[in-house]
Amino acid sequence: MSDSIKYLLDEARLPRSWYNIVADLPTPPPPFLNPETQKPVVTDDLIDLFPETVIEQEFATERDIEIPGPVRDIYRQWRPSPLHRARRLEKVLDTPAKIYFKYEGVSPTGSHKPNTSVAQAFYHKEGGVKRLATETGAGQWGSSAAFAGSLFGLEVDIYMIRASYEQKPYRRALMETYGARCVPSPSNETVVGRGMLAKKADHRGSLGLAMSEAVEVARRRDDTGYALGSVMNHVVLHQTVVGVEALAQMEMAGDYPDIVIGCTGGGANFAGIAFPFIGEELRGGRKTRIIGVEPAACPSLSRGKFAYDYGDAGHLLPLMKMHTLGSNFQPPGFHSAGLRYHGMAPLVSHVMDLGLMEARSYHQSKIFEAGILFARTEGILPAPEANHAIRGAIDEALRCRTEGRSEVILFNLCGHGHFDMHAYIDHAEGKLRDIDYDEGELAKSLATLPMEQVAAA
Ligand SMILES: *Cc1c(COP(=O)(O)O)cnc(C)c1O
Repeated sequence: MSDSIKYLLDEARLPRSWYNIVADLPTPPPPFLNPETQKPVVTDDLIDLFPETVIEQEFATERDIEIPGPVRDIYRQWRPSPLHRARRLEKVLDTPAKIYFKYEGVSPTGSHKPNTSVAQAFYHKEGGVKRLATETGAGQWGSSAAFAGSLFGLEVDIYMIRASYEQKPYRRALMETYGARCVPSPSNETVVGRGMLAKKADHRGSLGLAMSEAVEVARRRDDTGYALGSVMNHVVLHQTVVGVEALAQMEMAGDYPDIVIGCTGGGANFAGIAFPFIGEELRGGRKTRIIGVEPAACPSLSRGKFAYDYGDAGHLLPLMKMHTLGSNFQPPGFHSAGLRYHGMAPLVSHVMDLGLMEARSYHQSKIFEAGILFARTEGILPAPEANHAIRGAIDEALRCRTEGRSEVILFNLCGHGHFDMHAYIDHAEGKLRDIDYDEGELAKSLATLPMEQVAAA
């Protein structure tokens, strides 16, 4: 293995450090702003929510950030995660391209999310809290937070979008098995939740609202910290363990990707695999095409505005400059709950703005076709979110066939779909609809972006 890569790994080929792309970017990302004062956020603004080390990571500018020993010890249970070549998929596509995928479904909860939940739980425990408050949509993040909390002896309170709470009993059961408490959101436990219920007693919930409930609880209680599954810089940082491993594994395979692909919800799994490759390029190494794939029903990177927006419905989190559809945007129903967030990680948004990546979107019938072909050739049944990345990879492989090019494609298979069989059943029964978002609703939502109003006033 080349020295430049070898130094990244320990004797078990586990990364020693996470990779912070801020160190290599030509310009720093725009600062977070305090939602009340609209001044750049300082440590004090976040101290009620996060332990100091996490806040340091949020603002960090150094390239390599050491993974603590106790976190690496837990990672070792499933990391390094496998890198596979999808030879049977290549064969049915009859493509000269090589398709590699990094499989994050081997984690205890079946997705990439424990890469950060374990780190966050470790830092919160070290910081002295007894409890974590967090939100979850489909339950992938909630089960990963519950798992991590159980390892470090932290109680975990999870505000789960009410619609999912009712529709996804198995994810809820998993969280409760790990010992977490699951509360349907909006709930009566918070000012934000009670306010929503007063307006609409049968409110179905949204991710932004569940986030506000968890943030409110963490702010109010000294013994409680806040954890989140995507979007913020420290979460993106923890996910880079995926890409650092992939750099080394691609070298072992004797290849280097021409294209790296990930699905984008809040942006964390995508950034996790892509940022270390973008870093190679920024430091003068090989150039890689980087593609983020999102649902056509919630296309923040392709159709959103790059502007300051609220991260949560209650406006408690910092204002972040990101590709956003507006915090009031309600996407139509589709089967990839992990990709329903209105915004995009500020670091991913900045990378997009710098022209270092591209984005594309697909309707759900197209991505399920891709996921089913993948299951039938490679045997792994992907999470609906991951099907977006697979669709992107297949389309690039088909382009390579047309153009007669043998490019190397790498995508992140960020989770398995064993808890998402209802979506596959709906697909099999022909019940999936390709619903477009409403252009008028999007325009209305974008018209309420906070800083745009300040600028206009
Ligand atoms: C949460 C989740 C996503 C979306 O989140 P990102 O922050 O964009 O990674 C995608 N896939 C799976 C399997 C998830 O659990």
